[in-house]
Amino acid sequence: MGNSDSTSRRSFVQSLALAAGAVSLYPTSSLWAANETASDDPDAILAELVAGNRRFSSGKTRISPRTPEDFARDAKGQAPPAVILGCADSRVPPEMVFDQPIGNLFVLRVAGNMIGSGPILLGSVEFAVAELGARLVVVMGHSSCGACRAAIDHIDNNDTLPGAIEGMVDKIRPVVRQVQGEPGNKLVNVTKANAVYNAQKLSKTGSILPKFVQNGKVKMVGAYYNLSTGVVDFLDS
Ligand SMILES: [Zn+2]
Repeated sequence: MGNSDSTSRRSFVQSLALAAGAVSLYPTSSLWAANETASDDPDAILAELVAGNRRFSSGKTRISPRTPEDFARDAKGQAPPAVILGCADSRVPPEMVFDQPIGNLFVLRVAGNMIGSGPILLGSVEFAVAELGARLVVVMGHSSCGACRAAIDHIDNNDTLPGAIEGMVDKIRPVVRQVQGEPGNKLVNVTKANAVYNAQKLSKTGSILPKFVQNGKVKMVGAYYNLSTGVVDFLDS
């Protein structure tokens, strides 16, 4: 998507207790057991998600039944290489979509895959990065997203939605305005822009994540899952 005000990779001057490389409270060995390509490199982790999605979408998943050894390893701790902020939609389960075993993905799911403005989701991503050592954050939207569609309808109809849905959908409003007038399918445009918007927002928000992004330790990317093909497209963030 071409809506980037790209964050420059300037070196940061402040030292911070939770700077990149902080000692984790948990085991730091990668649990990338499915393919044994342990890595702290965001691009290598992204490449595994691409490969895993290719396996998923072509019907060649390789998640195997759990063994006692698997449970014993899980009980010792976690070091998920990637965070997925995805939609709560029942059709988009990240572990399946990326063909990843338990322990590899730190998953947050809310309708419309938004970080919002409170500390809960932001703090969860910060925890995954600073404490658990996650090095890739994917914000993933999907086709036929009800939350994005509601935001579009909400603005088009200038109506009021019931309960807290109004405030939830309101968080997508800036993105709907942002893509106004762009060619193509409006729902697709809004959904992709919303994923990129939230990935960029994460890379600029709070006192922890921007430093990891600026020194190249962590990468934030938007993604779009196509329900009708099972394919995830990664978006320029
Ligand atoms: Zn959705």
